[in-house]
Amino acid sequence: MFAETSPKTLELLQRLRQFFDEHIYPNEERYYREMDAFRRQGNAWQVSPLIEELKPLARAAGLWNMFLPHDHRGVPGISNLDYAPLCEVMGRVSWSGEVFNCSAPDTGNMETIERYGTEAQKDQWLEPLLAGEIRSGFLMTEPAVASSDATNIQCTIRREGDEYVINGRKWFSSGAGSPRCTIFIIMGKTDPGAPRHAQQSMVLVPRDTAGRHGAAAPLGVRLRRRTPRPHGGLVGERARTGGQHPAR
Ligand SMILES: Cc1cc2nc3c(=O)[nH]c(=O)nc-3n(C[C@H](O)[C@H](O)[C@H](O)COP(=O)(O)OP(=O)(O)OC[C@H]3O[C@@H](n4cnc5c(N)ncnc54)[C@H](O)[C@@H]3O)c2cc1C
Repeated sequence: MFAETSPKTLELLQRLRQFFDEHIYPNEERYYREMDAFRRQGNAWQVSPLIEELKPLARAAGLWNMFLPHDHRGVPGISNLDYAPLCEVMGRVSWSGEVFNCSAPDTGNMETIERYGTEAQKDQWLEPLLAGEIRSGFLMTEPAVASSDATNIQCTIRREGDEYVINGRKWFSSGAGSPRCTIFIIMGKTDPGAPRHAQQSMVLVPRDTAGRHGAAAPLGVRLRRRTPRPHGGLVGERARTGGQHPAR
């Protein structure tokens, strides 16, 4: 039996549908024109002027960060049940989630930092993510193992003094090609001797860590025909990062 849609969701749905009628559906062609132009320039990973134009309108319409399930610094969240019908609407236009700051992988990454991050990590990464100023990547999947089972992950994360040393290879990292992607959550093993499901941890790794240490390099980004699809391959052999450790 399906749950009844709450009055809060009904009200949000009404505003969201109106926003789609006014700003999303009429701009679908423009979005793809922008993407075609980017590709002709040789790089589809550019910030879309259309999405940047629409973001303030979505914010003003109160259609912003609707995914957040918990209260965060006084901003109330909504339950996943309330959020699901909104996703049905946003799912109709593949690029629309970003207009409302509700796109993967940022939503899950923001939830993780909100739940497990320190206050300093929230100030540094969560606030600009919630403001739609930066983007993020989630690096779990690895080329060498069946990654649907996280216990197979081989990337190692080892503490050395004040730093974590990360050794591993990752791919299928959604959003890693975005010029605004500045923070990665990387999953690896910190405790290989622990019980099978307690070996893994996740660390926050600022993107510029890789460049600074010359240790991680983009392997290239596979693009689907019409939209930039988020599959950066990354190697992070002996990448070193300051001790940022949000979750286990
Ligand atoms: C659009 C898209 C975006 C993605 N974004 C990200 C991202 O942002 N970050 C990230 O880390 N990854 C991302 N991925 C990768 C995705 O998480 C993995 O592809 C997924 O977890 C499956 O892992 P795998 O590819 O290693 O396949 P496998 O784990 O090898 O699975 C292949 C098949 O084998 C089956 N299988 C696996 N193990 C077993 C077993 N023990 N017994 C029986 N059957 C088994 C699986 O069910 C599946 O059918 C993305 C993938 C897609 C398509």
